[in-house]
Amino acid sequence: MQVEIKDQAAKKIRRGIPLIQKEDLKKYHETFPKEWVKFVDKQGKYVATGYLGKQNKGIGWVVDRNDSALNDEFFEQLFQTAIDQRSFYFSDESTTAFRLINGEGDGLGGITVDYYDGYLVVSWYNETIYHFRKKLTDSLQKLLHPKGIVEKIRFTSDLPESNWVSGSKPEEPLLVKENGVNYATYLDEGYMTGIFLDQKEVRGRLIEGVALGKRVLNMFSYTGAFSVAAAFGGALETTSVDLAQRSRAKTEEQFAVNGISLDQQRIVVMDTFEYFRYAARKELTYDLIVLDPPSFARNKKKTFSVLKDYGRLIEGSLDILSAEGTIIASTNASNFTIEKFQAAIEEVFIKENVTYHLTESYRLPPDFPAVEQLAESNYLKVLIYEIQKE
Ligand code: SAH
Repeated sequence: MQVEIKDQAAKKIRRGIPLIQKEDLKKYHETFPKEWVKFVDKQGKYVATGYLGKQNKGIGWVVDRNDSALNDEFFEQLFQTAIDQRSFYFSDESTTAFRLINGEGDGLGGITVDYYDGYLVVSWYNETIYHFRKKLTDSLQKLLHPKGIVEKIRFTSDLPESNWVSGSKPEEPLLVKENGVNYATYLDEGYMTGIFLDQKEVRGRLIEGVALGKRVLNMFSYTGAFSVAAAFGGALETTSVDLAQRSRAKTEEQFAVNGISLDQQRIVVMDTFEYFRYAARKELTYDLIVLDPPSFARNKKKTFSVLKDYGRLIEGSLDILSAEGTIIASTNASNFTIEKFQAAIEEVFIKENVTYHLTESYRLPPDFPAVEQLAESNYLKVLIYEIQKE
């Protein structure tokens, strides 16, 4: 099937942007054909091949610009290229979990595949790509012979969020390694597995020295992965704060699977802003504070959005940071540009009259390639600041 796109859209695609937006189409229909389509310009000239499918960003993806047949061979080749690019991780025995296929960054928007010690977690981001699931998972099966495959449904549908689709389930928790540290994972519990693989470099940095001899506060700690990495890296003590009840047991388990005693680790189930006030009242201070909030969250009618509230996280942190301290500020909000993120943070430093140095910054790691022309695909931003108060 052919789909006519506007001149502007043809230009954009030729420049290397793979994302199709509603306004790119000459005629927009709510129902999307469940097939690969050819995007053509006004003159009917071929521009690209891809598909239409509604997801949180855009309404479709360009998959090919060479008029190739999108057959099994094509996808096997695409997956094989992605696998070859991860040979570093496959041969690294100290890291057994990483991203294998990163959607558009590996040439196929709408799907991600993560490798967890021989198991695959496949996430489908729209209904059209999900329609091709059999062919695509067959290719993965053929290339990788995984022990099992679990899929996550990331589009609006009546299907359960998580489905075990082939092979056997591992004994839980499944222990994966990253830079020699164990992480307890659960592959078939909703969307989240227990670890966010895109933060491997930041956890690596915590292991390697940034946390050495420090009292660490980990805000929005989830399963405490940053705390465990900090403890490995010689932190004197860690405090993990998360609102979710489940975080206590999950974090205890994360320390336990690494044989780290809980003596110097505190786990607090509390709202972050409440903890800032509590710690200030108790005159607790920290040498290193990690801030890694969700893009958006709701708690007791109060909403938190990183775009408008990041400054408040920095304010709260400065109140309880030691005279010389470090803040690791992270966001995964794709609509928060690096420039705006940095400005929102530094505005508070200036207002609070502290001396600050941006010493390091991290974006997505090599197993999460982004499309250069699509800035929002490089969604992760992590800035490390050294702060001096007074
Ligand atoms: N930093 C974590 C990932 C954070 S996921 C890691 O590296 O693994 C976001 C977490 O924020 C969730 O666990 C959620 O329960 C928690 N959260 C959301 N709103 C919160 C709030 N107001 N205070 C504390 N935690 C919150």
